This record gives sequence, C-alpha cells and structure tokens, in this order.
Amino acid sequence: MAPRELPIYELEDAVVASQRAQGRLIVQAPTGSGKSTQIPQMLLKHGLLGAKGEVVVLQPRRLAARLLAKRVAEEMGVTLGEEVGYQIRLESRVSERTRIRFVTEGILLRQMSFDAGLRGMAAIVFDEFHERHLYGDISLARAVQIQRTTRPDLKLIVMSATLDAGALKAYLAPCEVLVSQGRSFPVRIQYLPKPVNFENDPVWDVAARECERVAMASHGDMLVFMPGAYEIGRTVQAIQSARALRDFVCFPLHGELPPEQQDRAVARYDARKIIVATNVAETSLTIDGVTTVIDGGLARMARFDPHRGINTLLIEKISVASADQRAGRAGRTAPGVCVRLWAEREHANRAPQELPEVKRLDLSEIVLTLKAGGIDDVANFPWLEKPDAVGLGRAENLLADLGALAGEKKSITETGRKMLRFPVHPRYARMLLAAEDRGCVRPVALMAALTQGRNFLLRGVPREVEKAREDALGEEHESDFFLLMRAWRYADQASYAIEACRRLGIHAQGARQVGPLFEQFLAIAKKEGLDTAERRTDGTAVRKCVLAGFSDQLARRLDAGTLRCELVHNRRGVLARESGIQQAKLLVAAEISEIGRGDGEVSTLLTLATAIEEAWLREIFPDDYREVRGATYDEAIKRVVSRRERRFRDLVLEAKVSSDEAPLNEAAALLTREVVAGRLKLETWDDAVEQWILRVNRMAEWFPELEVNPITDADRATLIEQICYGELGYRAIKDKPVMPVLRDWLTAEQLAVIDDYLPERLVMDNGRKARLTYNKEGPPVLSARIQELFGIGGRFSIGHGRVPVKIEVLAPNHRPIQVTDDLTNFWREQYPRIKPELARRYPRHEWR
Ligand code: ADP
Ligand code: MG
Repeated sequence: MAPRELPIYELEDAVVASQRAQGRLIVQAPTGSGKSTQIPQMLLKHGLLGAKGEVVVLQPRRLAARLLAKRVAEEMGVTLGEEVGYQIRLESRVSERTRIRFVTEGILLRQMSFDAGLRGMAAIVFDEFHERHLYGDISLARAVQIQRTTRPDLKLIVMSATLDAGALKAYLAPCEVLVSQGRSFPVRIQYLPKPVNFENDPVWDVAARECERVAMASHGDMLVFMPGAYEIGRTVQAIQSARALRDFVCFPLHGELPPEQQDRAVARYDARKIIVATNVAETSLTIDGVTTVIDGGLARMARFDPHRGINTLLIEKISVASADQRAGRAGRTAPGVCVRLWAEREHANRAPQELPEVKRLDLSEIVLTLKAGGIDDVANFPWLEKPDAVGLGRAENLLADLGALAGEKKSITETGRKMLRFPVHPRYARMLLAAEDRGCVRPVALMAALTQGRNFLLRGVPREVEKAREDALGEEHESDFFLLMRAWRYADQASYAIEACRRLGIHAQGARQVGPLFEQFLAIAKKEGLDTAERRTDGTAVRKCVLAGFSDQLARRLDAGTLRCELVHNRRGVLARESGIQQAKLLVAAEISEIGRGDGEVSTLLTLATAIEEAWLREIFPDDYREVRGATYDEAIKRVVSRRERRFRDLVLEAKVSSDEAPLNEAAALLTREVVAGRLKLETWDDAVEQWILRVNRMAEWFPELEVNPITDADRATLIEQICYGELGYRAIKDKPVMPVLRDWLTAEQLAVIDDYLPERLVMDNGRKARLTYNKEGPPVLSARIQELFGIGGRFSIGHGRVPVKIEVLAPNHRPIQVTDDLTNFWREQYPRIKPELARRYPRHEWR
C-alpha cells in the first residue's frame, strides 16, 4: 500500500486543524493504519514544527524505534540519521538536521530533567500508549507539566491502537480525540483441542507443528509469536527442519538481532514467509502480507523481583487484550486465521489486560530521574496512575541508601547525578561508578550481569557434583560472586555444553544468558568512557563496589556458632548454608528471599554473599557511619554503665561497655525506667508518700478553683527521674529521701492550702488528734479507737465544711468495728448492742 492510501490520511485534515487549534491530541487507529510512520511526517509537512523544530516520537521498543526511523527515512528519500533519526540505549543516529527523532525508554525523560525548556523540540508523540510503559506514563506527565509552565507552544500527541481514551482524555483535558476505524478483515480463531504442558512438549515444537498443519490450507505469510530470543531461535530451527514448510523462508525478529537481520525479516520475498517474533510485532510493527498468526500466548514481562530488589524479565501468559491484538495481525489485507497454542477453556483464565508497568516495576530509576529534574515531592507528581506508596517509599529509601538522595526532602546528590549517566537500575549505576574509581569496571559489569540473570549455579547438588565443582572452581571465602564468575567462565569456555555444565551443577541455559547481559553492561560503561579493559583484578576493589551497590543489604553475623544475621533496617536473616562466606563478621547479601516454612513462619535467607570490612563502610558511606557514646543499664550490678557503639545507619556493628561515666541524663532515664517498671524499689516511697499524692490529687478534684494540679503518672516518672538525677546505681537511690522532691513540686502557697483544706490529721472536740486516710474514690476516712471518741458526737467534715468525712470506729486492738457518718447516731443505735461483748473481751479498758 502506498503511504498516501493508508487509512490515517482520512484524519490528516483533522490532525492538522486540531494541532493548530490546541496542543493536545489523542489519535486512535488500528495497527497498520499509518500512525507511527505518517503522523510525524504530517507535522513536518504542514509546518507544525516551525522552521527548524523537531518532533520526538517515544516508542516502547528499541527494535520498533529503529525500524520506524529507517522506514520513514526511506519514504522521505533521506539518509537515516540526517532528517530522520533514532536514539536508543546503546545506539544513536541523529544529527543537527534531525527533524523526526524516534527514541525509547528514559532518553526523553532525561532530556526533560536537564533542559525543562526542551529547546528545539516542537512536538512530542507518545506512541503505543496502550502498552502503558513506565517511561510513557512519566514522560507524558512531565510533558504536560512543561507545556503548562515553560512551553505552552509544545504540541503533544498520544497515539494508540486500542486505547480506552476516557481516562486519558480527562487527564489531558482540554484535549481532542480523533478516531479512525481503519480497515480490517475477519480473523478465524482456532484453539488447541486440549491444553499442552510446554515443559513436556516445548512451545517451539507445538508452534512448528501448527505451522505445518495450516500451511497447505492457507495463502499468505505467517507470523509466529514467541516470548524471547531463545524460544525464537528454537522455533526457527524447528520450522526449517519441517518438510511441509520447505517452500517457506523463515526469519527471526527480536531486539537482540543485528540490524541487518532485523531488516531482512521485514523485507519482501517472492516465497511465502514465516516470521517468528516477540511481541514487537503485536502492535509496534506491521509486517505486510500476513494472513496467519500462530500465537504461543507468552511474553517476557518486566516485573519487580523482591528477592533481588531489581526488575527482572519473567515469561508470563499474555492477557486477553494482547491475544486479540495479535490475532488482528492476520486480518490486515485479507481474511485470516489465528491459531492460539492453548485450549479454549484456558482462555477465560487469562487476565483481561496487562497491569500498567507503574504498578509492577521498581521505580527507583525514574524517581532518580524525576529528582534530577527538581521534582522532590514524587508522591504529589501528577501521575497518570499513581504507584502505591510502598513502591515509592521503597524507591526513595533505596536511592538514599545508595547515596543518590539526601536530606529531609530527599533531594538528589552529586553521586545521584553521576549515577544518571548510566541508563541502568540505580544499583548497577552505583556499582559502575564505584568501579570507575577503583579501576575494576570489567568484573563489576560481569557481577551486575550475574545478579540480573537467572541463578545458574544449582543449589543442593549431590556430593559428587559438589566435589567436582570444588576441584574445577576451587574454594571461595571472599565473595560468592567470585565463585559464580569462575563458574560462568567455565561454562563459557565449554560453550555451554550441557554435559560439561551438568557435571558441575551448572544450568547451561541460565549461564548462557549472562553473556549478552555482560556485553550490554560493558557497552554502557564504554559509552560513558569507562576503562573496560581486561586487567588483573583486585578482589578488595571489586568487593567494595558490591558494597556500594548493596549497602541496603548489609548484614552482621550475630554469633560464630550459627548463621543468623542482623541487617540494616531492622531485619534479621540466616546466611545460606552453601555460602562460602562464613568466616566474615560483616557481609552484604545480593539476594534476600523470604521462605515460608512448614510452621507458617517466614524465614529470611541471605544468598550471594560478599565479605565486607568495617573500614570500607566509613570510606564509602562516611555520612552513615557513626560512633556514638551512650548508656545502658546493667541488671547484674544494678548500675548504669557507659557504652560506646559503632553504627552503620541503624545497625549496631559493635557495642562496648566502658569505664567512663555514663551521661547523667541518660543514666537518670534508665534508672527511672527500672523504677517505674517495678524492678527497682525506692524504699522511702512509702504509704505516707502515696497519701500525700492522694491529697494533692483530691485537692485538684474537689477544689479546682484553688489551682492545685494533680500528679499524673507522667509526673510520677518525672519526679522519679528528679530523684535519680545525678546517680548511676541503685545503691545511691534506694534510700534517698523522696518527700523533699515531692514537696518541691508545689509552691509554698499550694502546700499551705492543702494543709488547710485536706489536713493529715483532724483535731476533735475533745482535743485529740485523729488520722485521716484519703482514697482515690469516696470520702476521706477518720479512724479512731472507741475510747478516743468518748464524749464526741455528730458529723465531721474538712475543706471548710465542704468535704464530709466518714468515721471508722476501731476496737482497742485497732480492728474496725463500725463505719458511720454520724457519731451521735452510733452511740444511740449501734453502741449499746456491741458494748457487752466488747467489755467482756477487753475488761481492762474503760466502757462508758
Ligand atoms: P501504525 O503505527 O498505525 O500501526 P505504521 O505507521 O507503523 O502503522 O505502518 C503503516 C504501514 O506502513 C504498514 O501497514 C505497512 O504497510 C507500512 N510499513 C511500516 N513500516 C514498514 C517497514 N519497516 N517496512 C515495510 N513496510 C512498512
Ligand atoms: Mg505504530
């Protein structure tokens, strides 16, 4: 189809009019309509980019960015890299003259962070927006901010095949939506008759069989979807050895192929063609002539891996929405067929849609980029879809631990800015930075690759394998990484031969995946001018780099007898038994896994350990390493002793009791804690003291107008602390008088008022003094022996007559006989009845 005939041209006038009128537009049109290749050209052709301005097209996939740039350059008849160019992580073909630039990932966001004016940029196109890639979401939010503030003239276009435009339209309001229905033909969907387990019958074999089956009954080309490079390679092999498919040409298509091979896959041939692709062919690229789609139903998905604290790629089942997109690729030019390599009844169990990346990825890399752009309050960033607070907090904490953020607002540091040079997870950026300083970039790049790939050194292998491993690789006490590096070299030299690898318990396929990752890290380092030459490596330097990247997983062994460890941020864990790093007191674990045990408890396993020396903590993280002097209560000698601690963040590395005098404030607080808990008793804090406190408190209750404050539990602790102040041990406080301190709590006037209103004793009419007892509840009680009360009658009160007093009449042995409010009543009613008995029991006392 000539470009001019593409369905998108129905929208040309509307697009131009809309862009002239306002700066925001959503374009929705089916895959293959011409959005990615034509819309940027329309902007250029109609002068919407000004005389020299550029349009940047953000693509989720590198392969698509490159192929689209190439295609557009061809259509315009220009050399790639001149007027039309692309910029992806390790490759860039742009020039001063570039007017249409396709980019991926963080390239646009970084540019926004360094130059919020976006000089030279006239328009930004967000392509494939329905994929909801992290960088798509964030870059759009930033672009809207920039458009609102510094660049009201900036044009923004969001494009997608399947977008549910409602929420996005509201987010971008005011914003126009243009829709093209495109043209498509019906696609017949076929499922497998019954479910297939790909463990037993590999997906590439199943796919090749289905290709054979449908080849005869169909015309046109075929498109097979596989999750990744490896599965694609196997599928191509299986197809090429199938007799029924001899007349087909077959090509792989994925991002790891060299450009010539990518070009070959999309070129035209006389023979029928089978393309085996990743989900780059789902919506990003259109391959003309396809009438049959074979869908393996799988994709590699990036997801946060809590064990390793990074994002990893996992093979997962695609959603129903994805499967529908893939099927649609068969009906572009004629009716088609889509064979799904799963059973129809399994289909309903698939997720309706993929979760947006912002909900499933580690956010530290983009948080760092936002901070570099001066956005410190990331929680209030205008997210299209807000990530959960836990994920954001985790990202900020990790960045702070890496030394990339500091201060109360968690602003970016000098180190943080340097880390942004490397377009990798901040952990690896920090490691590469450290490696640059220490001249060990190569081994550190390998280590980064080892943590990112799948673990290939099998655990729990039989004795003889362990033995063979030891013979071939030697022992290791400095870092489990070093053993892993030797294992990888061994596997690499053996060309990943299954047998050679199995002998040492190495998963050959897993080891093979490390190579490309290693190359990628090296390429990134080299691009930034780092020295990646092979040289004699110093184990210490490499271990320091591991510490720089994993300081948030620093662990201290709790004892020599067990493998238990304490980690920074109040965590505990157990070092894996197979770790070689069992002599070190300090280590960092590159992996932390929570393992459910039979009893329902969770235990935390630390693996991939590296021995660390304490001096390095101070060297690399001087702000997080502290020596503090403190105090601690020694129960055995009932004394506060001085204590010196060395800490890394909140982890106590070592605490030593010293003979210095403990700081008096801390000593008083510690002794108070013991007294309040009842473990130490102040002998002079007796009933009389409690009575005194009760008098104060009831005074406050009964006569609030006299402004005596009650003594609360907190006040008690303060009083005790005052008593303890200046002392270090129990001996000194045990018999220390407490009343003076308590009386000191009140003013002289308050003391006088209390003695006046709520006295300790009451003088009765017969001149005798009787003791008053105050209680928490109820009235005060006067207690007196019967003989002391002879000749007295009536009721008693205190507090200038406002507080009635109960009278407790005691026998000569001080036992209570009766409680009464009114003595006159007592003498008349009760006394005559009890007198004979009392007189008989106490004949020597007077009985009136
Ligand atoms: P959309 O973005 O709407 O999916 P594109 O702009 O990518 O559409 O593609 C429009 C048409 O251009 C496709 O249908 C195809 O015919 C053609 N095309 C695009 N890229 C290439 C390419 N690299 N090689 C050959 N044809 C291409
Ligand atoms: Mg497109």
